Amino acid sequence: MNLATWVERNGRRLRGRPATAVGERVTGTWDETAGRVAAVAGGLRGRLGLAEGDRVALLMSNRPEYLEAQFAVWHAGLVAVPVNARLHREEVAYVLEHSGAAVVVTDEEHAEVVGPLLERLEGLRAVVVAPGPDWDALLAAEPVPLSDRGSDDPAWLFYTSGTTGRPKGATLTHGNLLMASLSYFADIAAIGDRDSVLHAAPLSHGSGIYGLPHVAKGAVSVFPASGALDGAELVGLLARWPGLSFFAAPIMVKRLAADPALAGADLSGLRTIIYGGAPMYLADLEEALATFGPRLAQIYGQGETPMTITGLSRADHAESDHPRWRERMAGVGFPRTDVEVRVVDADDRPLPPGEAGEVLVRGRVVMAGYWDAPEASAEALRGGWLHTGDIGSLDDDGYLTLRDRSKDLIISGGMNIYPREVEEAIMTHPGVQSVAVVGRPDPEWGESVVAFVVAVGDGPAPTVEDLDRACLERIARFKRPKEYHLVDALPTNNYGKVLKRELRTWLADGVVPDAR
Ligand code: AMP
Repeated sequence: MNLATWVERNGRRLRGRPATAVGERVTGTWDETAGRVAAVAGGLRGRLGLAEGDRVALLMSNRPEYLEAQFAVWHAGLVAVPVNARLHREEVAYVLEHSGAAVVVTDEEHAEVVGPLLERLEGLRAVVVAPGPDWDALLAAEPVPLSDRGSDDPAWLFYTSGTTGRPKGATLTHGNLLMASLSYFADIAAIGDRDSVLHAAPLSHGSGIYGLPHVAKGAVSVFPASGALDGAELVGLLARWPGLSFFAAPIMVKRLAADPALAGADLSGLRTIIYGGAPMYLADLEEALATFGPRLAQIYGQGETPMTITGLSRADHAESDHPRWRERMAGVGFPRTDVEVRVVDADDRPLPPGEAGEVLVRGRVVMAGYWDAPEASAEALRGGWLHTGDIGSLDDDGYLTLRDRSKDLIISGGMNIYPREVEEAIMTHPGVQSVAVVGRPDPEWGESVVAFVVAVGDGPAPTVEDLDRACLERIARFKRPKEYHLVDALPTNNYGKVLKRELRTWLADGVVPDAR
């Protein structure tokens, strides 16, 4: 089934009811949105001459036109390539060239990034700025009927955020995204047509994936007017759009949880905050639960199996009298209803509970493969299982804890050290705001453990002795960092993931920007 079917159906059933909003203002009803989607689809096929299966890249900030363009692409039988809007021009060029995008839909803010690429990239035929005259021309086109798409037809090329290596385009089919959406209803929450989803994080990533089940059910897609959500804005939006859910990276949840505007505020309109995409440290989660109550759900996933591997439900979060509650909260949860999850050794043999190995996933949500990369696809999907590159272990109850990305594993003196456990230990120090641990090549030990620490804004910065003590109280002596660097901020990508590659480059180049 074509995912754009949802928009067409809502256009009939929910006439006059809001489909999109910026802040408190409705920007499109469902019938208007369905009309725009069919017209833009007609414009892409007719005016721009695209054929079924052609790729259309979306490079823009979150805005209603983003969703309209995405569903128009599907309506027309084309493939969407949502590009992280904060990428450097050369990174954008790589994604456009690799995906063979024929058209880019962008906005004023990003037009100057793509404009110059029009001449350079052979396959790129047009850049459409939305809103604007080009977009209006598409809206004025003759609508086309919904294109017939099957489960195996590609819908979304999800270029992985590239914290390691060059980005690859996970090919997500209409069937994969349908499964991810159904699995939201199975494991996270039911959604009704009076509910809403707030796009506070980039639509090219988690927010886009979790937006889908909301569109399926006719909920309103709300875009924060500020573009950078804070506590006061959230409180206002909850009053206007009750039944509201949103996806956020752990850093954003942490920031919001500490926002004084939320203390004592009426949060009854808040349904679910879905967090994930990067580790949430227990100390931060406890603060978030104190602010938001049992409205948090964690997901662990990746572009290759769109945000669907395991999860910690709202009920898991609420069960604080469970004897293993703390362990569970420090992990990533239980396998989602629609997937099988295994932890295996280097030969892909399943490991018993408690032993750490690579996490494998199998199910209908798993990507068809990487776009135009048969070898990488065969490698990632060997034996019929997606090899996530994440290292984790299952407990006796079947809950998964992640240790690390396999590439981040530090081997020092022949011992395996998972940066995550060192980070958890350092985070227990109240003076630490965030931390990232990496390995540095070491002639004696093979690698040595290095920690980059950001101190909380006020109060004295933690000393090396304090940090060492926090580690020694919790983890083996050999795991303790040999070096600590106090820095002003950690380098992160647009999706809130710490760029460990960059930290290693700092070390290799001997240019660590130590805190002032
Ligand atoms: P991406 O495909 O860019 O979303 O990156 C996916 C990767 O992010 C996963 O393979 C994990 O390494 C990491 N990740 C995703 N969700 C979580 C989570 N809940 N906790 C820790 N790491 C996560």
